[in-house]
Amino acid sequence: PNPSLDVTTFISSQAHRGRIAFIDASTGKNLTFSELWRAVESVGDCLSEMGIRKGHVVLLLSPNSILFPVVCLSVMSLGAVITTTNPLNTPGEIAKQINDSNPVLAFTTSQLLPKIVSAASSGSKKLPIVLMDEERVDSVGDVRRLVEMMKKVPSGTRVMERVDQDDTATLLYSSGTTGISKGVISSHRNLIAMVQTIVNRFGSDDGSQGEQRFICTVPMFHIYGLAAFATGLLAYGSTIVVLSKFEMHEMMFSIGKYQATYLPLVPPILVAMINGADQIKAKYDLSSLHTVLCGGAPLSKEVTEGFMEKYPTVKILQGYGLTESTGIGASTDTVEESRRYGTAGKLSASMEGRIVDSVTGQVLGPKHTGELWLKGPSIMKGYFSNEEATSSTLDSEGWLRTGDLCYIDEDGFIFVVDRLKELIKYKGYQVPPAELEALLLTHPEIADAAVIPFPDKEVGQFPMAYVVRKTKSFLSEKSIMEFVAKQVAPYKRIRKVAFVSSIPKNPSGKILRKDLIKLATSNSKL
Ligand code: ATP
Repeated sequence: PNPSLDVTTFISSQAHRGRIAFIDASTGKNLTFSELWRAVESVGDCLSEMGIRKGHVVLLLSPNSILFPVVCLSVMSLGAVITTTNPLNTPGEIAKQINDSNPVLAFTTSQLLPKIVSAASSGSKKLPIVLMDEERVDSVGDVRRLVEMMKKVPSGTRVMERVDQDDTATLLYSSGTTGISKGVISSHRNLIAMVQTIVNRFGSDDGSQGEQRFICTVPMFHIYGLAAFATGLLAYGSTIVVLSKFEMHEMMFSIGKYQATYLPLVPPILVAMINGADQIKAKYDLSSLHTVLCGGAPLSKEVTEGFMEKYPTVKILQGYGLTESTGIGASTDTVEESRRYGTAGKLSASMEGRIVDSVTGQVLGPKHTGELWLKGPSIMKGYFSNEEATSSTLDSEGWLRTGDLCYIDEDGFIFVVDRLKELIKYKGYQVPPAELEALLLTHPEIADAAVIPFPDKEVGQFPMAYVVRKTKSFLSEKSIMEFVAKQVAPYKRIRKVAFVSSIPKNPSGKILRKDLIKLATSNSKL
């Protein structure tokens, strides 16, 4: 692509004008591609009128909505930078992100307004706020309404600035699953590379470009939703049915109502679909659905198989990526590939990969386990204001250390063993919790499980399991420990078990081990 092309122009140059781009699942309101690009222009003009210029950071705190991509694309079209945050974050967490990223403006909804006002009040600078919805609320501070602004600001009045592909487009914060959340800087080049990968990926699926109807229930504030729905699929020309958040009934009902074909999800939702399969199939029309794409966290053999058994007409695919790689990395393209259970798929077309021994730095051959490194045009520019984290994650040749312990088989399929930072250090050994979780899930009486490191003076850490028993199961701690002990080397044995009613997970489906570790080590009752 043209080196001075911003991602918004790149996407909008694809001609899909007459088609519907977005449908709001709850109201049925839709936006054609022509309306989408007119709205993006108009919001861009408003932003320009408010003084937003290239390089300024704009914060977006909103659940999924059809306006979410409009705001992102408008901000990026000006060369300004969009930073998003999880609507479930506390004002304290949002304040941290505000202090780190220093936004000059925030977009939010009337419902989330008090949260952002409270978060911004701890900072030294005033943060002007634009409300995206039309609900009336008592105005607090410097709050404007987008609809009113769009009526007042004449079109085409924006200050034009040249945007280059190496300019920053997004500043997304990593989930912080394994430590402190970091601001990931992605350029227009990174996003365009991601968009091209997605277009090629879906274009090759069945050749029916634009005829897919996707259900978007994964969060748009996270790279999964932002890459796929707020930018990537727009260039592909498909219709996207937007759900403000995940809710099983609404998701299933929307599949039938909008005759959706494609459903991107995270593993816990897949598990819920398997457990409720009989009722779901009896109640909803899923006849249009042909593919479920699962990403964000490891997908075990049991879940893949369970899904194939309960939904035999639906193709299940896997996708692997990181915020740092602008959401892409690897994927399976066919059910046969997904039957290589546990694989995250093959590298995306634009990506190079290698497995490196994290101690010696030696590049390893097929079937050897080490850290996965990725290189390609969608790899981030670095972490925001964090030289140290950037230099320990990106090397001078552009390789990204993913922090994922993986191996690649002789056919090029990647298997994620675990995250390096989550390995349990038992005596001198390293125990991958994901392997034990997958094993626990093979027990017929276990509905879900998480394994964490439990601190111990003598051995350092030992594996402890949190287990959700299936209804009517009276499975004991001892029998769980024996079940695992029979199948693993002695150093991997689970040495403590606690029962819970659910396993805490984040919006991309990852187990919140930090919360469980806190629970295990505090005096609170389990
Ligand atoms: P932090 O780096 O702050 O801890 P995070 O890594 O949770 O946050 P994300 O960018 O959301 O932030 O997650 C990327 C990680 O998700 C990958 O490094 C990998 O561990 C995991 N992941 C994503 N997709 C898959 C998949 N298909 N299979 C296994 N793991 C996956």
